[in-house]
Amino acid sequence: MPAAVNGMKECSKCGETKDVSEYGKCSSLKDGLKGKCKECRRQTRLENRDKINTSKRQRYKDDGKYRERIRKQNNDWLDSNREEVNRKNRERYQNDEEYREKVLSNGASYRAENVNKVSQLNATYRAKNKKALGERNQKYRKDMSAAVYAIRNTLNGKSYIGQSVHYPVRFRTHKFLLRNNKHDNSKLQFDFNLYGEDVFEFSIVYEFPPWTHSSILLEQEKVEIAKRLQKGDKLYNSQFPSIELLESNVIEVDFAPDVLNLMISVCDEEGITFQDMASIMNTIQERNPNLDILTKINNSETKEET
Ligand SMILES: [Zn+2]
Repeated sequence: MPAAVNGMKECSKCGETKDVSEYGKCSSLKDGLKGKCKECRRQTRLENRDKINTSKRQRYKDDGKYRERIRKQNNDWLDSNREEVNRKNRERYQNDEEYREKVLSNGASYRAENVNKVSQLNATYRAKNKKALGERNQKYRKDMSAAVYAIRNTLNGKSYIGQSVHYPVRFRTHKFLLRNNKHDNSKLQFDFNLYGEDVFEFSIVYEFPPWTHSSILLEQEKVEIAKRLQKGDKLYNSQFPSIELLESNVIEVDFAPDVLNLMISVCDEEGITFQDMASIMNTIQERNPNLDILTKINNSETKEET
């Protein structure tokens, strides 16, 4: 094997004469350099990659010390790249459906196989972080709006009307129950199973300020149901509003948000129903058309149409 001469060396594989910097170090050879150039060694590695990987895997299985060393290397690397790795995993989880399903099913089977361990871990975590978790929950819900909402089947036009103090949470609950075939509205569940999730559209009918009293929301829900039934809409709801409400001219409540806030607080303080309040406000509006207590959204919608 030709040794290095004047900073140059002939490769024992490709036969080219290259600068010594193109060779790896090897203390057992006379000139302290490998016989094959870096490029040739790289090629050999590529050609034998499968063989090398198989033998590495075998060694990992058989050789405890080697296994420990590799594990430590991997863990050290993970520790120093934790943020980057987490970010990449999150990104992949969001974009790669196959990966997401794999992660979810791995998690599910782990939890299924380790029910006691998982519930114990969760309980310990909750006990240790009780205050922080409570605060997080409060903060999470604090600014969340209340609403009367609709779940509409876009194929047959049938709707489910509901109300919630924290509607984003309620939307998730509806979806969870429907996906797991556990929704207590059997007609809605039937259509969900028949047509699939994509057919259903979740939307807000009336948004209310956070922590609006549920009696106001329930009342408004009944009014919305009555309004839709009077129009001849099909509904999934099984509980119908009273005959009186159905026979009445249901009041529109398209008030400006700050007016709505004021009305709700007055209802709470004075113990009057929201519908009575709305009826008074409508009368005031009729007698004083310049007051402008109706919502601006309505005005801009009429403008677009004309
Ligand atoms: Zn070479």
